[in-house]
Parts: sequence; structure tokens; C-alpha cells
Amino acid sequence: ADLLEMKNIHKTYPNGTKANQGVNLKIREGEIHALVGENGAGKSTLMKILFGLEQPTDGELRYKGQPVTFHNPKDAIAHGIGMVHQHFMLVPSFTVAENIVLGIEKRRGPLSLFTDRKAAVKSVQQLSESYGLRVQAEAKVETISVGQKQRVEILKALYRGARLLILDEPTAVLTPQETDELFVALRQLVTQGYTIIFITHKLREVMEISDRVTVLRAGKTIGTLATKETNKEE
Ligand code: ADP
Ligand code: ADP
Repeated sequence: ADLLEMKNIHKTYPNGTKANQGVNLKIREGEIHALVGENGAGKSTLMKILFGLEQPTDGELRYKGQPVTFHNPKDAIAHGIGMVHQHFMLVPSFTVAENIVLGIEKRRGPLSLFTDRKAAVKSVQQLSESYGLRVQAEAKVETISVGQKQRVEILKALYRGARLLILDEPTAVLTPQETDELFVALRQLVTQGYTIIFITHKLREVMEISDRVTVLRAGKTIGTLATKETNKEE
């Protein structure tokens, strides 16, 4: 079944740039869906609309069969959507565990109590183990590698309850080994029913990791193809 449908999405920025000009995208539950296209094709804009960071000029979003409007990231997060940016949004002087629980626990004040810290470290370690996304829960973010920061971002989205993960060119900052590890983790996530949108411009990665791919060009969708023989083309 389709988890998400973006219908005839248009986005014109205030300066007149037409970034999306009638985009149609259907995402099935439990698939890894690659989104490809040259720089400027409108991929980021489309994903910003999905995460509530931009509003479409026209078009419709349907999520779990219902029309939805995401006014801000909070709305999108509340619907189980998570976004992992190319540029990380972590607090360098805070630990991995603190960064992951931050934003959710914020309302209850800083993590000053020893018990809170211990609980945070424990739940982060559990989350980390169950998805094979290794992190050092008690290390400060400023001391860890880029590949680890990305895992922290993914775990943060999962911790907030994301069921649909948007990954914006996730391999751009990774070593080949980290890329392999990421792909193993993504496969495990979809096995457990998660859905992933994977922005990339590397054809090899599309073939290796995705179930289906949608091609964007000049703000329009060219089409969607199955990349695995077990899927029917459409
Ligand atoms: P992609 O992610 O495929 O590279 P983008 O969605 O980033 O594409 O960009 C699509 C078009 O919209 C480009 O021409 C880009 O310069 C333009 N654009 C992106 N963000 C803005 C913005 N905030 N204001 C004006 N134009 C923008
Ligand atoms: P709050 O006041 O609770 O932080 P916001 O609407 O600012 O409310 O953000 C809600 C959550 O979404 C926060 O946890 C914040 O870190 C996250 N968030 C806000 N903007 C972005 C963004 N551009 N990318 C990823 N996450 C974001």
C-alpha cells in the first residue's frame, strides 16, 4: 500500500524560481525509494515540503490515505517522518545520548539529573544495538567522526518515532566501509517495516540499495521504475 502520495506538487520560491512544477511521487510502505536527478532538479525542495520546512505553492500530500499539511517539522515528526540532513544539526558540546534525546526531553528541562542521563544512555545503547548503528553514547559529538554523526542523526529520528526516513545524499560524507554499514542498517530497517526515501545521484547506489527509483528533471517527475526483478515496473 502507498504510505505517501505527493500529487502535482508545485513550488515557486519568493524570488520566482520554479523548483517543483508538477511532481508526482508515490512511496510504498516498507520500501527503499531512491530519488535521483541532477543538481537543481528539485529533490531537496520536494523533501523540505514533505518535512514541513517549505510549503507547496500547489498540490496535495496524502499520508496513510489522508490529506495532510505539514506546517513545520514538528507536524511531520508527529506523523512519524524523520529527516537526516547532509549538514548535521547536532550540538557539538553535548554527548551522543544527549543529542538523541534532546528536543523531546527538552520540555522537562536539561538532562541534569544523573538518573535521566543514565536512562538516556541506556535507551540510546539499546536503540543503537537493535539497528546495528554503532555509536558511543557517552562521547561528545565534537569528538566523533562524520559517519558516526550520521548514525546519531538516524538514531535521533528513530528515537522520535520516525517510520518514514528521508536521507539526503547520506553516502556523500561516508567512507566505503561506512556506506556498506549504512546499507546493512537500512536493509534491517525496511525488514522491520520502516520506509526510506534515499536521495542520491549515484546510479550504482540506486541499483544496490533501492527497491524503486523516481527520476526528477527540471522540477518534474520523469517516472518511477522498479530496480529489483521481483518488483513489477510501472
Ligand atoms: P536539488 O535538490 O535537486 O539540487 P533544489 O530543490 O535544491 O534541487 O533546487 C531546485 C531549484 O530551486 C534550484 O534552481 C535552486 O537554485 C532553487 N532553490 C532552492 N532553494 C531555494 C530558495 N530557498 N530560494 C530560491 N530558490 C531556491
Ligand atoms: P521545538 O521548539 O520543540 O524545538 P520546532 O518546531 O523548532 O519545535 O522543532 C521541532 C523539532 O524539529 C525539534 O526537535 C527540532 O530539532 C526539529 N527540527 C526543527 N527544524 C529542523 C530541521 N530543519 N531539520 C531537522 N529537524 C528540525
